[in-house]
Amino acid sequence: MNRALNFNAGPAALPVEVLKEAEQNLLNFSNTGMGIMELSHRSKEYQAVHDQAIALLRKLMAIPDDYEVLFIQGGASLQFSMVPMNLLGRGQAAHYVLSGSWSDKALKEADKIGETVIAASSKDQKYRFIPAYSQDDIPDNAAYLHITSNNTIYGTQWKTFPSNKKTPLVADMSSDILSRSLEVEQFDLIYAGAQKNLGPSGVTVVIIRKELLERSSENLPTMLNYNTFANDNSLYNTPPTLAIYLLSLVLKWADKQGGLQQIENTNEKKAKTLYDIIDESEGFYIGHAHKDSRSRMNVTFNLHSADLSKEFLQQAKEAGFVGLGGHRSIGGCRASIYNAVPEQHVEKLAAFMKAFKNKN
Ligand code: PMP
Repeated sequence: MNRALNFNAGPAALPVEVLKEAEQNLLNFSNTGMGIMELSHRSKEYQAVHDQAIALLRKLMAIPDDYEVLFIQGGASLQFSMVPMNLLGRGQAAHYVLSGSWSDKALKEADKIGETVIAASSKDQKYRFIPAYSQDDIPDNAAYLHITSNNTIYGTQWKTFPSNKKTPLVADMSSDILSRSLEVEQFDLIYAGAQKNLGPSGVTVVIIRKELLERSSENLPTMLNYNTFANDNSLYNTPPTLAIYLLSLVLKWADKQGGLQQIENTNEKKAKTLYDIIDESEGFYIGHAHKDSRSRMNVTFNLHSADLSKEFLQQAKEAGFVGLGGHRSIGGCRASIYNAVPEQHVEKLAAFMKAFKNKN
């Protein structure tokens, strides 16, 4: 079978092995005579899948016991609201670092719930870098500090994180969760929509320090309260069973790759392949992000004129590359190279970029 050269930003490429295994189990899962999505979410077969997904995520990310792993629907966008609804109390302010459109959206939702502060921003510099920020500056009434660990649209990524000795650190990791090895203890809440590195859309993973669960008001609507998910192992109501099943397969695949350090090494290599082409192109390709903020997941670049960018995208499409157009808000080009994008596909893109430069 001819797999597409898929550089979509999300939903994105999934590992072939995962899709093949899923294909078989769509019709007859574990000799039940039923497909995975036809099983009751209360059945022992589904329960095992659910528990395995949580256990594998705990193992891969080395999530300590004082954190809960929750599966919630509504995408990362619902977390923009749930985070302040659950964590932002009266007399407090939620601090947001603006490093891209998604952090801006998160801030706007928090504004509807309570008081917010823009802790740092690179908005007026077209979000070309992660703004410098020290958590020492944060006042005592801060409910939490919110960051976006990887900025999918602009192609920037936090390399180190502000220390969180005083204020809980909340991170939207939608576009780089599971892409590198990091200490979960640095964070108090991590959330990520699955559709980039974790699986298909439909499930959002929330990793929350148990202590924080005490903050949620009992007056919150049931499905917007983290405790509802924590108290019932994310089985209070029907979870997105198919998405969680696929998540469990992706996690199994990630474990087989050798874990997060191994995955990080591969991701670093893949990103370097493309950034080298940009850096060695003598200005033919112009990277959007400052070098020290470059993302290993989303490589954003322009060509020196809009017409040439258009020509590049057209020829890339004809050559079989999918999803290389930049986000509709900034245009240009973007190659999303999440965990499941094979190294060979990245090398093919690098060769195409080189050849395109030589011809133009
Ligand atoms: N945060 C980031 C960093 C994202 O990249 C995205 C989606 N691309 C979102 C949030 C929104 O996610 P969802 O579509 O799952 O609501």
